[in-house]
Formats: sequence, C-alpha cells, structure tokens
Amino acid sequence: MKSIKQTADYYKRKFGTSNPFEIAEFLNIEVILDSFDKCSGCYLFIKNHRCIFINKNLEHKDKMLVMAHELGHALLHRKQNCYFIRNKTHLLSSRIEREANRFAVCLLIEDSELEEYKDRTISELASIFGLEPELVELRMR
Ligand SMILES: [Zn+2]
Repeated sequence: MKSIKQTADYYKRKFGTSNPFEIAEFLNIEVILDSFDKCSGCYLFIKNHRCIFINKNLEHKDKMLVMAHELGHALLHRKQNCYFIRNKTHLLSSRIEREANRFAVCLLIEDSELEEYKDRTISELASIFGLEPELVELRMR
C-alpha cells in the first residue's frame, strides 16, 4: 500500500498540479462551493459519488487547506463522511482526520520548500506556510 505522501505525490505528478480543486476536477469529484453556517467544508459519499462541499466565505488559504483535507478523504477514505469544523480538537480527533491532514500538507507543501526552509523551526515554518504547527509537524514525518 502506498504511503499518504506517495499518494499525494502520485496525483501531483499525474495531473501536473498541486491545486486540490484542479485534482478533484480531473478525478470527477463533485465540488460545491456555498455558504455554510459553522462548517468550513465537508466530504460526503452520496449514492456512489464523491462530493466535497467547501464554504465559499473562507479565505483563499483556508479554502485550499480545507479542500486538500477533503480531497484526502475522497482518495483515502472514500466511504467515510467528514465534517470539517476548524478547531484543534478536530485536527487531532481521529486517525482518519490525521491522515486527511497529512495528505493535505503533503499536497500543499512541496519538498523543495521544506528543503529551502530546512533550518527553520516548526513554529517558523507554521507562520511561513500559514498553517497550524500541528499540521507542519504532520508534513515532517
Ligand atoms: Zn476530515
């Protein structure tokens, strides 16, 4: 079985992009942008279709992160629904959430960027990439 990092690298190479919205389009995963009250995004497996809902009011960076996370579920946990509500308990809540987060950061942070910033601490990297330190740590493993 491929590792999560290998899975992310595979799709990046295959489609020539690390943009999760573009990858979803290539894979015929339905993406719906709309306003939601509390949810940043969710992934639902409906009638054998993979659907991702993203809150359109998120800032660009958050939108990319939530989308990359939900794409991780679509690829790694096809039949497992996820509601993404952004807080730290959610970040660490379960194995599949950690896996989706690891997929997201493998997609969004390039090896070359890690190489470029290899002398920085986790918290410096977190502010460089605009991500929680917990997420940056998942990328380092
Ligand atoms: Zn999730």
